[in-house]
Formats: sequence, C-alpha cells, structure tokens
Amino acid sequence: MIGQSFNQIRVSRQALRYNYRLLQKRAGYQVRLLAMVKADAYGHGMIEAASTFSDAGCTDFGVAEVCEGIKLRKSGIKGNIFIFLGFDLSDVSLFFDYDLVPVIYDLESAKALSRQALSLGTEIAVHVKVDCGMTRLGILPDEVQDFITKLMQLPGIKCDGIASHFPRSDEHDLSQTSEQFIRFEKVSATAKRIQKSKLTVHTANSGGILYFPQTCCDMVRAGISLYGYYPDGMAGIESEKEEKLQPAMSFTTRVLQVKTVAAGVGVSYGHTFKTEHETILAVLPVGYEDGLSRSLSNKGEVLIHGQRAIIRGRICMNLCMVDVTAIDGVLAGDEVVILGTQTEDTISGDEIAEQMNSISYEVLCLFGNNNQRRYTE
Ligand SMILES: *Cc1c(COP(=O)(O)O)cnc(C)c1O
Repeated sequence: MIGQSFNQIRVSRQALRYNYRLLQKRAGYQVRLLAMVKADAYGHGMIEAASTFSDAGCTDFGVAEVCEGIKLRKSGIKGNIFIFLGFDLSDVSLFFDYDLVPVIYDLESAKALSRQALSLGTEIAVHVKVDCGMTRLGILPDEVQDFITKLMQLPGIKCDGIASHFPRSDEHDLSQTSEQFIRFEKVSATAKRIQKSKLTVHTANSGGILYFPQTCCDMVRAGISLYGYYPDGMAGIESEKEEKLQPAMSFTTRVLQVKTVAAGVGVSYGHTFKTEHETILAVLPVGYEDGLSRSLSNKGEVLIHGQRAIIRGRICMNLCMVDVTAIDGVLAGDEVVILGTQTEDTISGDEIAEQMNSISYEVLCLFGNNNQRRYTE
C-alpha cells in the first residue's frame, strides 16, 4: 500500500515467540504445539505470525479453509498445515498439490480424497473430527467405530489423527470439560484399536492448555493464548500464578483536530452526546471501518498523553471524537493509543471486549484485519 495510514497496528514478534515458548512449556515438551493462524492469525497477519512461530520451532499450523492453507504454503511455511473446516469436493486435488492435511467429518470427503490419491499413486494423511459435546463440526462418538472402519477400507487414505474441541475449557469448573475429555479418551481408544498404527490425538485449545493440562494428549491447538490473551479474559490474567502471557498487538493513531465547543452542543450523528459545559474534543481518524465497534459510542476510552479520554457521541465510519477537556495541551498530531500502553496506563483487548459485550478474539480480529500492520522484532 502506498501512503501511510494514521492508524497503525504494531505486532511484537518477540511477544509471539515468548507466548509460543511459554505454552510449549505448559503443555509439556513431548506435546506438539499447533499454532492456530486462522482469521489472519486473529488479526496479527497469518504469514508473519506463522513464520514467527516457525522460527520458534513450530511445525504444525491450523487454518479454517483451503485457500488460507494454500496462501500459507506458498509463503514458504514448512510443516503440517491443517484445514479444519472441510472443503468443496472440486478442490480435492489442492490437498495434494499443496501438501495440506484435511480434518474430515464425512465419508464423502474421504472418498474424494481416496480417489484422488489413487489417481496420483500416492497416499494422504487425514485427521478425523469428533464432536464430544461442542455440538459443532464432527462425527458423533457413536459413529466413530463405523467411520474409522470404513476409512481404513479406502485405498490411499491414512488416518493419522483424531481430534475434538472443548466448548467450556475457559471455565475453571472442571466438571464439564472432564466429562467431555472422558468421552474423547474413549473414542480415541476405539480409533487406536481399529487403526493400530500411530494416531495423533488432540483436543486442547488455549483453555485446555492453561486450565486442564491433563488434556494435552499428543498435540494441542493454541489460538488466543499465542497472541497473549487468556480465553476467559481478565479473570484469566488475575488467576495466573506463573509467568503471564504477553499481548502482541497494539493499535495507535493520531489526533486529527482539536476543538473547543460551548455547553449544550450536540456531538456526532444523532447528537447522542450533548456537552454540559465548555468541552475540548479531539477528533480521531478511527471509526467502525477500522474495527472500533459502534457499540463503543459514548463508552470506550483511549489514551492521550498517558491519560484516559472517553469517546463522545456516536462512532462514525472513519472518525470519532474523544473528550480531552481534562488533559492539558492536546494538539493535532499527538499520539493516541486505542489498544496497548502509553506511559503508565494500558487499554487491553479484554477491557474493550467487555465494553462491547464480546471477547478479546473479536477485538483483535477487528483491529488487526482492518488496519495497516507493522512488525517489531
Ligand atoms: C480456533 C480453534 C482453536 C483455538 O482456540 P483458542 O481458544 O483460540 O485457543 C482450536 N481448535 C479449533 C478447532 C479451533 O477452531
């Protein structure tokens, strides 16, 4: 892109590496740590994040769709690239062309892969997704025996792994996750019995790694924690007793204009804010198009000169106004922190998420995927 945007996302490669190493330590060094880099690595840039994790020793990567896997492979990433959301049958050859690992949950896909493998005179490794209580993608536990048996009969297919996903591993209450893990252990034992050779068993996401390390099995799939956030937000940070994860992303912008308005003046569309007294407003070049959710209107805060300034009025598509009446000497061009630290104060993705009634995952995607990104070592 030519021309600088006022809005800059900074991603710290050092933080990504640090989180990777910390999670590897927590999961145990015998466990493979798969980096989930879907959604453009939760807004951090899929290729840059994957290459950083790769430098830190990562050999397994996960994305949602085939097109993401191809992009990653073309960028030169080595190792296993898992496609978690299935594929259109007409795309089956791409798994062979780009050496991708399909995670499957239906026999149709398996048959298409088998036919393609036969026609190329090769073999393809697949992982089977089992739904042990998430009630999302995957075959049901009762279907596992039959499914794996049929899979074994398909020429050119090698069942290399079995996977599931936790819906509630971000809760510290053990009961639900334990129940689901017991179900998963049963089905993976069944799969091993039928399949006989080595099977990679994986189910833990960030919550699993951090709160239920006994569920780490052969491989774990970390997403949000690699980017420095706890799946349960602020509660997770507070209950952390050891080294903390480090958020890798920050978002800064600049003040476009400063203006002093009288009492009783309406601000922005709909005049949802009216000044009670003379007020100094800073106009910022950030709006919902830049990922600053409109739900933060009259609520969200930013940092200027190390102090907090609240958003006044509705957030527009590319602009918003913040109240700097209490902050001395704010000028056009001054740095504004939307996400991250300025002098002593920090605005975290968890804080913004709480105000949006959402989770840090969404904040990172919104900011990271809608602004220019830069990387620091
Ligand atoms: C996104 C995803 C993960 C990672 O979840 P986090 O909570 O971000 O760690 C793991 N497994 C699957 C199948 C996913 O889709």
